Amino acid sequence: MSTEKKSTTNNLDKFKKALTAIYNIIKKSNSFQEGISEVEKDILNLIKAERMTIYQSLSNGIEIQSVFKSSGEKKEIRVPYSTTSVSGWVALSNKSVIIKDLDDHQELQRIHPDLKYDSSFSKASGFIEKNMICVPIKEGKVFLGVLQFTNCTDGSEFTIDDAKNAILIAQMLAQKFRTDLQSTQSPLHYLVKQGKITQDEMLKIEQYDTAQTGNSYIKILSEKGVSKKDIGKSLEQYYQVPFMTYRNDVLLPEIFFKDVKRSYLRNKKCVPIQGDKQEVVILIDDPSDHDKIVEIQNILQSKSYIFRVALEEDIMKYLSDEHKIKSTEKARITEELINEKKQNVEFSLDGLKSAQSTANIHMVDNVIKEAHRLGASDIHIEPGEDEILGTIRVRVDGSCRQLATVPSDNYDSIIARIKVMSKLDISERRKPQDGKCKVMVRGSDLELRIATVPTVHGESIVMRLLSSGEALPLDKLNLAPKILNKIYEVCKHHHGLFLVSGPTGSGKTTTLHAILNHLNTPDKKIWTAEDPVEITQPGLQQLQINNKIDLTFSNAIRAFMRADPDIILIGEMRDAETANIGIEASLTGHLVLSTLHTNSAPETITRLLNLGIERVNFTDSLLGVLAQRLVRTLCSECKSSYRPDDKEMNHLIEIYGKEDFENDGYQADQIKLYKPTGCEECGLTGYKGRTGLHEMLVVSSELQQLIYDEASLQVITQQAYKDGMRTLLQDGTYKVFKGEIDYSSLISAVSE
Ligand SMILES: [Zn+2]
Repeated sequence: MSTEKKSTTNNLDKFKKALTAIYNIIKKSNSFQEGISEVEKDILNLIKAERMTIYQSLSNGIEIQSVFKSSGEKKEIRVPYSTTSVSGWVALSNKSVIIKDLDDHQELQRIHPDLKYDSSFSKASGFIEKNMICVPIKEGKVFLGVLQFTNCTDGSEFTIDDAKNAILIAQMLAQKFRTDLQSTQSPLHYLVKQGKITQDEMLKIEQYDTAQTGNSYIKILSEKGVSKKDIGKSLEQYYQVPFMTYRNDVLLPEIFFKDVKRSYLRNKKCVPIQGDKQEVVILIDDPSDHDKIVEIQNILQSKSYIFRVALEEDIMKYLSDEHKIKSTEKARITEELINEKKQNVEFSLDGLKSAQSTANIHMVDNVIKEAHRLGASDIHIEPGEDEILGTIRVRVDGSCRQLATVPSDNYDSIIARIKVMSKLDISERRKPQDGKCKVMVRGSDLELRIATVPTVHGESIVMRLLSSGEALPLDKLNLAPKILNKIYEVCKHHHGLFLVSGPTGSGKTTTLHAILNHLNTPDKKIWTAEDPVEITQPGLQQLQINNKIDLTFSNAIRAFMRADPDIILIGEMRDAETANIGIEASLTGHLVLSTLHTNSAPETITRLLNLGIERVNFTDSLLGVLAQRLVRTLCSECKSSYRPDDKEMNHLIEIYGKEDFENDGYQADQIKLYKPTGCEECGLTGYKGRTGLHEMLVVSSELQQLIYDEASLQVITQQAYKDGMRTLLQDGTYKVFKGEIDYSSLISAVSE
């Protein structure tokens, strides 16, 4: 191979110098993507590669996700920790790989017997990938992502020296990722940052732990008043993997315990708690120990891996003989419970037995799992007429689609199974019932709200999936740059009121939590009152409203005011009382965020005035309003472009504003629009996912005067335009021009 590629010490110095220059550019840039785009050519030159892809690990412990691709392709790819793909294998094993010929199956199999190269992506794009270097991005021991280079530019193959250089580049990226992810420097460092223990105490505990053995540090920490939950958070922050405690209702997947001894797993301090040979959820005390992970992988032989960090003592509990007994005992209690019901009511024995039959349990489990994977909000189980099949449909991105059919013989037992799960009365089939239950899907808790409704053909069930979601970063909400900057400005205020408005299901909660995510720093105390709590974030104090015990929004805010808050989130300003207390709080040194069910930003102001709120206080406190809608986005795989006719074009120019259209540099004869087609990716609908349309009003002094004067909606709206408010229609048109949504979806969303 080419000798000039061998790096001498001199070359290495040069290389490191170039790398420092690159790092400084990335560090200074506004966003990672922007910085990387700027230095992409320099990095590729350093390795002599044609293209690169950078993946970041997601803190869900399931996948890595592409954050940069040389091809310019914006669509994110997610890759599971797996033995079957190159980047998945690097993520799983943390080993660097050089592949000289991607089409050489034997070369791949020497790395791992399951390893395959999927050429469909590269073939579809017309860029043929020949060879590759793939290295883990790590900071210390902690895995943060994968860096991949494809095709050596001079037509030759990548060398060991290239791989070494790639590792140096990965180290540089790790520094940047580390700050982005706000991850910590050691497993207990978060506790120091939160002031739960001192730096000295942490060092002592860490030494103690390595010197002694076992889980003794938990004891020391709990003596210091540190809860298990705090320790869990600290481990999550460091390993960037979700934390899980012991649960006695988990039934261990027997398939793995046939061949693997518990003593072996006890020794390795890990336990498979769910899954099969395709995908397994593993609890492990140290997710950064990749030698151990590779060894476990060899023993368990599953294709994909989902990781959770757990305390050693909890892992041992799962592996104890007691756990086995407990799980059988639980099965016995369930059995008894059902027997009891049997005696009380008239219900066919067959129906009950089949509710517990493995096939039906699997059917229900699989439906929930699939719905969760698709990101569905609801599952609808509907009876068929007489001999006709029952149907199972799921609602994804706001519209329903069929998932499966149920033979009429099985229908009742599936309904019974769901009722048993959610502790509903299985014998009651004439009245509607409500219930809820928690299930485990891919190692995470999923809460389900169940409603049964009797219909003329039998019982119908709707299950709502309340996955405890994670907050999105603000810059992932697809806000137009102008609007995003205005929100950043509002966030700088220490007191005042900021409102998000829109109809039900317009993504208000997502937006508010993204704002809180931005505001959430250790120096701020944040209280939230929500109904229901849909998204949880570490660092927030979140309270669930419960009207039955008189825990209303207004009572919650009163309690918060005594609890030294900096920022308060009020789920909704439903009435004048809540609004007035919220406004009061915002005037006494707190930033208050809330939502309203109104159609536009100016209407939010007049609605509150009509509610009969304290006009003077409101005038003083309101900082701004963000109105929004959710619109289906076109499937990027199959959308097709077309030239709009004059009528459509003129309408779009009209709603965008003729002046703005010209100022923003658009030319009518250059504009291409897109429409849905339908492919396998999007279930033939032509749409995939949703995006927000936004309208942001910032209160100017002129507008303040108008609010004080209780001006009409029309006058307030006109002033908002003068102040530079971009309307929902304008923002939507901008997204039509960008090819993200289609014209008809825009019109129907905004005319709601
Ligand atoms: Zn499609």
